[in-house]
Amino acid sequence: MFPQQRAMAHECLKLAPLKPRLPMIDKLAKAARDPVLAWAWAYSRWCPQRAVKRATALARRAGLRQPHFVLSFDCDTDADSAVVPAMHARLRSGGLSPLYAVAGEVLAAAANDYRAIAEEGAVFLNHGFRRHAARDSASGDVTSTYFYGDVSEAEWQDDIRRGAEAVGDILGQRPDGFRTPHFASFESPRDLMALWQFLSELGYRYSSSTRPLFGLRHGPFFTRAGIVEFPVSGCLTEPGQILDSWGLIRRGDGTSRRLLEELRAYLALMETGQPGLLNLYLDPADVADDEDVLKMLTRFAPFAAKDFASVLGRADHG
Ligand SMILES: [Zn+2]
Repeated sequence: MFPQQRAMAHECLKLAPLKPRLPMIDKLAKAARDPVLAWAWAYSRWCPQRAVKRATALARRAGLRQPHFVLSFDCDTDADSAVVPAMHARLRSGGLSPLYAVAGEVLAAAANDYRAIAEEGAVFLNHGFRRHAARDSASGDVTSTYFYGDVSEAEWQDDIRRGAEAVGDILGQRPDGFRTPHFASFESPRDLMALWQFLSELGYRYSSSTRPLFGLRHGPFFTRAGIVEFPVSGCLTEPGQILDSWGLIRRGDGTSRRLLEELRAYLALMETGQPGLLNLYLDPADVADDEDVLKMLTRFAPFAAKDFASVLGRADHG
């Protein structure tokens, strides 16, 4: 830990008590693997206001001069695919063109629907090939089923290759961005470096596979092994918590109330003109029927970038 970080962490410790969520042994194991990430977690938990200021400063340092908004949808189940066509049309009419990260097997099962939105200009990330979530048709509960951290390097690399083939064969696109299945499950320094190096060898340019803590630590995007990594954004009230429908709706109270509150807060911040990037990902099945959420998303249209390349194109590196 750097002296400045130690001073801030010390100050923060006086402000709020520790409220552990994971068993302490898990936290210690993670902290031992990546101590600076552990610092970022503590900082975001205890000093949310300062974390927001830090995010703005890092955005400025990365060359951003304005607020930017990138919206992506992770399509992990057939229930997501079923709602994508109407949701995409609704968002397009509101001035947004989201990115889609679709597991190859899910893409193949609804090929015509995805082809239709690809022909309209939707951009797809490689999201691996194998299905990595299962949905219980009776309850609607979704269970995570396949993690890169649980398989050999050869296997996850094969999954990435096959994911790209699916996007190429079905949509005729060659993806230049990748998102690992599941956040927080494949992010040790060693795993990430192996991932970025492999993506670089395959000719990728972008990845958006890391949690908000990486943004707090490194900024809205950062380059490793030739890949520009875009961490997904966190909640303004709790910067270490991913701002997504999985955490705020499914694992929250089942309503979109908190998601809407967090989005409203981001919108207010962005309307002040502060530089930054809201890199938001959602699961279609959780929000597609919620007009309040869709309407709120379209309010970000003035800040929308159509993909990660556009964000970089607008960054002033001079
Ligand atoms: Zn996924």
